[in-house]
Amino acid sequence: MAQVNLAPAAMPEGKKRIAVMTSGGDSQGMSGAVRAVVRQTIASGCDAFAVYEGYEGLVQGGDMIKQMKWEDVRGWLSEGGTLIGTARCMSFKERPGRLQAAKNMIDKGIDALVVCGGDGSLTGADRFRGEWPSLVEELVSNGTFKQEAVEPFKHLNIVGLVGSIDNDLAGTDATIGCYSSLQRICQAVDYIDATAFSHQRAFVIEVMGRHCGWLALMAGVSTGADFVFLPENPPSENWETEMCDVVKRHRKLGKRKTIVIVAEGAHDRQLNAISPDKVKDLLAGKLGLDTRVTTLGHVQRGGTAVAYDRMLSTLQGVEAVKAVLDSTPETPSPVICIVENKIVRKSLMEAVKLTQSVAEAIERKDFQSAMKLRGAEFDEYWTAYSTTVSTDKKELLLPEEKRLRVGIIHVGAPAGGMNAATRAATAYCLTRGHTPIALHNGFPGLARHYKDEESSVREIKWLDAENWASKGGSEIGTNRATPSEDYDGVSDALTYHKIDALFVVGGFEAFTAVSELRKARRDYDAFKIPIVILPATVSNNVPGTEYSIGSDTCLNALIDYCDAIKQSAAASRRRVFVVETQGGASGYIATIAGLSIGAVAVYTPEEGIHLKMIASDIEHLKEQFAKDKGQNRSGKIILRNEKASKTYTTEIIANIIREESGGKFDSRFAVPGHVQQGGIPSPMDRVRAVRFGVKSMQHIESFAGKSKDEIAKDPLSCSVIGITGAQVQFSAMEKVEKEETDWKDRRPKNEFWMDLVSIVDTLSGRPRPKKED
Ligand code: ATP
Repeated sequence: MAQVNLAPAAMPEGKKRIAVMTSGGDSQGMSGAVRAVVRQTIASGCDAFAVYEGYEGLVQGGDMIKQMKWEDVRGWLSEGGTLIGTARCMSFKERPGRLQAAKNMIDKGIDALVVCGGDGSLTGADRFRGEWPSLVEELVSNGTFKQEAVEPFKHLNIVGLVGSIDNDLAGTDATIGCYSSLQRICQAVDYIDATAFSHQRAFVIEVMGRHCGWLALMAGVSTGADFVFLPENPPSENWETEMCDVVKRHRKLGKRKTIVIVAEGAHDRQLNAISPDKVKDLLAGKLGLDTRVTTLGHVQRGGTAVAYDRMLSTLQGVEAVKAVLDSTPETPSPVICIVENKIVRKSLMEAVKLTQSVAEAIERKDFQSAMKLRGAEFDEYWTAYSTTVSTDKKELLLPEEKRLRVGIIHVGAPAGGMNAATRAATAYCLTRGHTPIALHNGFPGLARHYKDEESSVREIKWLDAENWASKGGSEIGTNRATPSEDYDGVSDALTYHKIDALFVVGGFEAFTAVSELRKARRDYDAFKIPIVILPATVSNNVPGTEYSIGSDTCLNALIDYCDAIKQSAAASRRRVFVVETQGGASGYIATIAGLSIGAVAVYTPEEGIHLKMIASDIEHLKEQFAKDKGQNRSGKIILRNEKASKTYTTEIIANIIREESGGKFDSRFAVPGHVQQGGIPSPMDRVRAVRFGVKSMQHIESFAGKSKDEIAKDPLSCSVIGITGAQVQFSAMEKVEKEETDWKDRRPKNEFWMDLVSIVDTLSGRPRPKKED
C-alpha cells in the first residue's frame, strides 16, 4: 500500500464528511435515497460523497468515491435502479479489502457511511465499523498514515438504509423498493388476468423471494390469487390435493380463470422445492386446466419507483443523515426502518440477526417461528388472504346465533381500494357465516329504494365480488349525501332488511355520516348496531387515521402526471409548471407528491399563499435557473393544493412567475383534476383495503350476541379504523369527532405530515419567508 501520510483536515466540530453507497441487488428508490442523503448532508453544512459500484468502489477508491454537489442529484427521484451503481464485491468480505477501503475513506476525509442495501450489505457495513479502530491502527503501523493524520478518524459512523425488493429485513414494514416491485408484479398479473379469463386458463406465476414470501403474499392479496406458495409458511403435507380442491371449488362457483403465485424459494414442509412447473403439471394433469407458467424475473426490479418508495427513500435518507449527526462512538449502528407510518431507528445488527433467524427457522422447519419472526403485519396479511380464498371451512363458521347481516355502504367520491375492501369484507363474512349485504348508491339509494323490486339492498355472493380486488371506482355505487337528509328512511331500510352491523367505506362525507348515525342513536334504535368506517379518499383528510385507502393510488397518478410534465419542462429547459392538486382543505396530497417528485415548493391550505412567499420563490427559481448550465435537464414543479388560496389561483401564480421572471424562464399551469382518482388501485391501497376490511369485520363480529343498549353504551361500537403512528387501531367515533376533528375545514386538527413540508423545502433548497418578515 502506498505511503500517504496525509488526510484532509478534520471538519469543524459537529460537521462531517458523509458518504452514501448502494449495494447488493438494486431496487427502485435507491437513487432517491442517494439524493436525499446528499442534499440533507449539504443542507446540514457537511460534505457529501457518493461511493460508486457498492463496496467495489470503496475498495478501489480514487474516482469511485466522488464528492457530490447539490445539482449532481437533480431529477434522481424519478429514476429507477441506482445511478451510482451497485455490485457484489468479494474482496470486501476479506480483511485486506476492508483495510484498503478504510484507507480510501481516510484519504478523502470521510468519517461516516450510509449504506443502502440488503442484509448482506448491512452486515458488511457493521463488520466494517466494528473493525474500524483496528484497521486504522494497522494503517498507522504499516506506515500508510501518521498517527496525527488518523486522529480525527478514530470512529466510523455507519447508518443502514434497507434497499431491497424482497422486503426481507426484520424490523421494518417496508424496504425501499418493495412496493415498486409489487406494483410491477400486480401490473403483470392484472394483464395476465384478462387473457386467463378469456381462455379460461390457469397461470402459475413465479415471483422473486428466495427466503421471503412478502412479494408472493402481497401479490396474492392484491390480485385475489387462488393459491400462494411462500417459503415461511409452506402448505399442508397433502398440498397437492389442497390446492386442487381450492381451485376446483372456485371453478365450480363460476370462476373462469385461475392464478397461482409461487415465490422463488417456495417449498413443501420437508423443504422440497415447489417449482412452478410442478404446480402447472398438477393443474393440467389433475384438473385438466389449460395451464401456463410465467416467470416475471427482472421486470420486478425494473421501472421507476412508486410514490411510496420515493417518499420512503427520501424520508429515510434524511433520517439517516440526522442519525449520523446524532451518533456518538458508543451508539450502536442504526438502521432506518418504518413501522406502519412512523420512521424509526433500530439497531442494525439486531435487525440483521432477526432477519437471519427467519432463514434459520425455515431451515429447521419451524414454520410457526418463521411466520412469527416476520412480524404481526405479515401474519395479519396471511390471515386476511386465507379467509378471502377459503370460504367453505366448516371449522371457521360461527354458531347461528352469532351470525350477522352486515350492511356495506360506500359514501362520497370513489377512491382506489373501496372495492377491494368490500370484496375482503364479503369473503370474511361468508367464511364466518355472516351475510354480506350491499347497500347500493349510498344513503339516498338505501333510504329511497330499499323496497323496490330491484332493491338497493342486495346480498353479495362470492362470485359477485370475486374480481373486485383490482377494480377502481365503486362497484356498489356511492353517493355524497349523509343520513341526516332522511333519518327515517335510513332507519326503516335498516330495520326492514334486519341489518345488524354497518361497514361504511368513504371519505369525509362517510365520516360525517357515521357521526350523524352515532348521534341519532338517541332517537333511532336501528342505529344501535356496530358501525365501522374505513377511511377511503384521495385527500387523506379523515380524522382518526393517518392513511385513507385511495390516497396512495392518487399519489401514484399524480407523480406519473408530474413525471410526464417534468420531462416536457426539462426538454424546453427553462420552464416551471404550477400543478394543481386535489385534497380539499388538506395539503397532504400536495406535500407527499412534492416529496416524491422533488417539487420546488408546495402550497397548502394549512399555510396559505402570500405575496412574499411567491416573490421569494421566484427569486429562488431565478437562482436555480442561473446555476443550471444545461448539464442537468430537469423540469421544475410547484404543487398548489386546490384550496391553498382563493386569490392566488394556479393560473395566476403561473402568470405572476412568468411576468416576474424577467424573461429568464417560462411558466405554465396544469390541472390534472379527476386523473388523480387513478384508474386501477395501487397495490398498497389494495392490500391495506383487504387487511382493514378483514379487521373491521372481526371488530364488528366481536359485538355479535350483544343487546342494542349494550352496543350503544360501548364507545368502540361506532369507530374509525386507521393507522396512527406505529399502530393500526379502532378509535371511538365519539372521541375522534369531538377532540380530533376540524369540522370547518374538514380535516384532522393535527395533521401528522405537517413537518414534512419543511423537508420538501430543505431538499429543494427553498428559503421560506414568513408572512410577517
Ligand atoms: P440482496 O437483497 O440483493 O441480497 P444484499 O445486500 O443482502 O442484497 P449481498 O450480496 O448479500 O446482498 O451483499 C452485498 C455485498 O455486501 C457483498 O458483495 C459484499 O461486498 C458485502 N457483504 C455481504 N456480507 C458481508 C460480510 N459478512 N462481511 C463483509 N461484507 C459483506
